[in-house]
Amino acid sequence: MLSAKIDLKSSPFTGGIFFELFFIHSRMHNYEIAEQFTLLGKLMDIHGENAFKIKSYTNAAYTLDKLAQPVSEMSSHELFAIRGIGEAIGQKILQLIENKRLTILETYIEKTPIGILEMLKIKGLGPKKIITIWKELEIETVGELLYACQENRLINYKGFGAKTQQNIQESLEYYLQHQGSYLYQQVESLASNLQNSLQEKFPKDEHIISGHFKRQMETIDFLDVVTTLSENKLIDWLTKKEFTVIKLDEFISCKGVDNFEIRWYLTSPDNFHWIDFSLACSPDFLKKWVENPLFQKNFKFISEASLFEQLGISFIPSAQREDSAILSSLLSNNKKRLAPSIEVEDIKGIIHSHSTWSDGIHTIEQMASSAKEAGYAYLVISDHSKSAFYANGLEIERIVGQHKEIDALNKKLAPFVIFKSIESDILNDGSLDYPEEILESFDIVIASIHSNLKMTEEKAMMRLLNAINNPYTSILGHPTGRLLLSRKGYPVNHETIIEACAENNVVIELNAHPRRLDMDWRYIAGAIQKDVLISINPDAHAVEGFADCKYGVLVAQKAGLTAAQNLSSFSLQEMIEFVAFQQAKRN
Ligand SMILES: [Zn+2]
Ligand SMILES: [Zn+2]
Repeated sequence: MLSAKIDLKSSPFTGGIFFELFFIHSRMHNYEIAEQFTLLGKLMDIHGENAFKIKSYTNAAYTLDKLAQPVSEMSSHELFAIRGIGEAIGQKILQLIENKRLTILETYIEKTPIGILEMLKIKGLGPKKIITIWKELEIETVGELLYACQENRLINYKGFGAKTQQNIQESLEYYLQHQGSYLYQQVESLASNLQNSLQEKFPKDEHIISGHFKRQMETIDFLDVVTTLSENKLIDWLTKKEFTVIKLDEFISCKGVDNFEIRWYLTSPDNFHWIDFSLACSPDFLKKWVENPLFQKNFKFISEASLFEQLGISFIPSAQREDSAILSSLLSNNKKRLAPSIEVEDIKGIIHSHSTWSDGIHTIEQMASSAKEAGYAYLVISDHSKSAFYANGLEIERIVGQHKEIDALNKKLAPFVIFKSIESDILNDGSLDYPEEILESFDIVIASIHSNLKMTEEKAMMRLLNAINNPYTSILGHPTGRLLLSRKGYPVNHETIIEACAENNVVIELNAHPRRLDMDWRYIAGAIQKDVLISINPDAHAVEGFADCKYGVLVAQKAGLTAAQNLSSFSLQEMIEFVAFQQAKRN
């Protein structure tokens, strides 16, 4: 089924990219429906609607978000019976599933300036502040608002202190810098649908999606497509699909309703692979390549692999064509072969996952059975610790109960193993969240920072180093706390962290959530050099989250990480040994 036409104004709020032409919509996820109701609640608030009504929509969004069963698979009877949904909202959900649109939301979007809608995406700006900005300051665009912050005008209004103004200004600057950027995961289905559409529509021509996408970058600003199509055919096809098309010297640029850009490089069949190759290298790598006298020779460019063969050096996958040092090292020793990077199939267990004991949406049994069924050998359940009260973190008394449940499940699901773990908050002074005798009861402790994220490098490093030096810490969770395209992460010194982890046998997490991908792949080579293990962990809050391991693998490949250097690729036996080793460290 092709998606319905997406409204110009509503598209910025959807998670992915809605190039109507290529987008084939699968069933709607609960979180997608919840997002629409959250937005509805906020817009009604901005337009001064009845607080009781607003609350019912906000509650419905919350309920949907926490619901384990997809509502798109429920009967209307089941749907209406859910507490916090009922018949009135249930009907709206059905409408949304059926038509991919919500009439009531559309009416509110219609009467809201687009700049005000945009402000809802800025961190720190809720409906109340937006009302003041819109109605009292009479500001209707993000650009004007930034200017007002720079002019120090917000502080004259109720609810805006100097500090709030400063925070809003920083969020705005960040937002404007990353406008038009998307997560890799958000463009993934567009890219594959585009590739398929081209193949189907123009089977006699060659087409490939190259550039940042082919390099597996964590965020994507535009898609580069190399094609042997003629200019006329391409422009004709794009304009018929109502894309805005601009012809530039190097490429043809097109944009759809959501403003996401596709750049088309037209080429003859002879030059096809070269253009593809040159777009799928970093500028540094490409410069080294073209400068080398070896490459001045007339090589036959039949495929990328053939080029490396003719040169007599090991193939460098596009993901690894970043730092030119890799090229220099292979050229100086043409016997050298690159070790194969980790693949998705190399992930043997799920490390770092949450259950209904804290903020996850599936029970431990559901998580474990799913993991077992998917072929994983073990699951590390690491719910939030007690200080994470907002995430229903575990008080000491509840840990005993959770461990009993895990013991029983381990008997039932053997030889599959659930390891007892905790994602312990790293507190303000760098200590972990429980006394030693409680920490002792876990197989593995993951230490992460979740609170007071706004801090200096000095403060961040004090907290992190204290946690790494703690003998109970086995894994350092998402080391910078960044959220790609929405939060920068606190400043850290990666070299110092890597050294401390090497000294204390602490593993560094590569959190595989597509919005985190933290640690940044650019620092992984440094960790490998110091023999520090990396662990690709999905931080799964539901069984669907296991699939995120893939995004961790894609960026790990950029750093050339091998399966042997990744903890979650350990076999069950190796994992048991790892746990024993970590426990010995404590004494
Ligand atoms: Zn966390
Ligand atoms: Zn987590």
